[in-house]
Amino acid sequence: MIAARGYAAHQAHSALKPFAFERRELGEKDVHIEILHCGICHSDIHQVNNDWGGSTYPIVPGHEIVGRVVAIGSNVTKFKLGATVGVGCMVDSCRSCGPCGDGVEQMCENGATWTYNSRDKRHGGVTYGGYSDRIVVDESFVLSVAEHLDLARVAPLLCAGITTYAPLRRWLRGPTTDPALPGRGKRVGVVGLGGLGHMAVKFARAFGADEVVVFTTTASKKDDALALGATEVVLSKAADAMKLQRNRLDVIIDTVSANHDMAPYLAALRPEGVHCLVGLPGEIPALNPFSLVGEQKILTGSSIGNIRETQEMLDFCAKHEVLSDIEPTTFSALESAYKRVETSDVKYRFVLDAKSL
Ligand code: NAP
Ligand code: ZN
Ligand code: ZN
Repeated sequence: MIAARGYAAHQAHSALKPFAFERRELGEKDVHIEILHCGICHSDIHQVNNDWGGSTYPIVPGHEIVGRVVAIGSNVTKFKLGATVGVGCMVDSCRSCGPCGDGVEQMCENGATWTYNSRDKRHGGVTYGGYSDRIVVDESFVLSVAEHLDLARVAPLLCAGITTYAPLRRWLRGPTTDPALPGRGKRVGVVGLGGLGHMAVKFARAFGADEVVVFTTTASKKDDALALGATEVVLSKAADAMKLQRNRLDVIIDTVSANHDMAPYLAALRPEGVHCLVGLPGEIPALNPFSLVGEQKILTGSSIGNIRETQEMLDFCAKHEVLSDIEPTTFSALESAYKRVETSDVKYRFVLDAKSL
């Protein structure tokens, strides 16, 4: 076994503390990655706090991992020693069910193995994530990262990036869509300007959207939203401003991490427009079916992205210089980083520097 160090929470709502554990010995398809940076996703906080139920302690969060390959198994073909790589939310899946065969591993019928807080069906035990110094992952679930990039700013792409890239690509398509600029002629709404939200704004612009409307509860984020590429910023608590958006938007990406009323956003969609939930609060309020039925609006959700499209997204970001706006942070400052994420005060992703372990 390989000795590893990280930070773990030992019960719900408790502070994360230094934690020693072991990674498995390298199998023939395994890559041993020394972690350089790991983003802090709101999902880490949900799971540390057991917001979704089923958390297993100790829990070592972290699924926005960038690092360097320091050893490879005898049968690894995708990566060489020294390669710059990424690991996102999944580290394995059954590889034999229908969804795995279709390349949508996140929907594996037998349950994808998540990077942390997940039973490891192949090797036993529970997975531990990227708030640590090293990780061992099968090469099929490791992504290539262009090494000339600012790697700390790449880390959030592994979750916040793919989770917004994938639904925008999916829902901006149409019979006359230009694949290079699928947003052309479209109006996109982004609800919540945090880690996912700020990436959604960047992708909507990179895809050529005519308008990008940010809905925020935090008035002080207005200038940032415009600098990130929004064409308009709406304070979502202002009912009058919300009414002005009626029937305007083609696609809304909803990244809100807390329970919230979706009715004003459904009203902002044009007929047959799409409201896509990516945020995962523990619950959402009941809906009036009339808000969907009359104008045939679509309410849907999206889960991260598969491995193929995650690589596509990383390549797109390298080509178009789309990177996350980050606040670098350290393990000793984890508690304050968590507090700031929980109070919507992150600009716009905290990223841990593994050197601070
Ligand atoms: P984040 O950085 O904390 O951003 C969430 C934003 O939501 C906040 O910045 C805030 O934006 C808004 N918000 C927070 N509380 C609110 C409230 N009570 N009412 C209205 N708006 C509120 O979180 P994140 O890392 O982007 O993650 C967002 C959500 O996506 C989380 O639930 C996370 O678990 C989930 N997630 C899902 C997937 C997936 O595959 N679907 C992947 C990753 C994360 P404003 O200040 O602008 O209002
Ligand atoms: Zn995440
Ligand atoms: Zn499967």
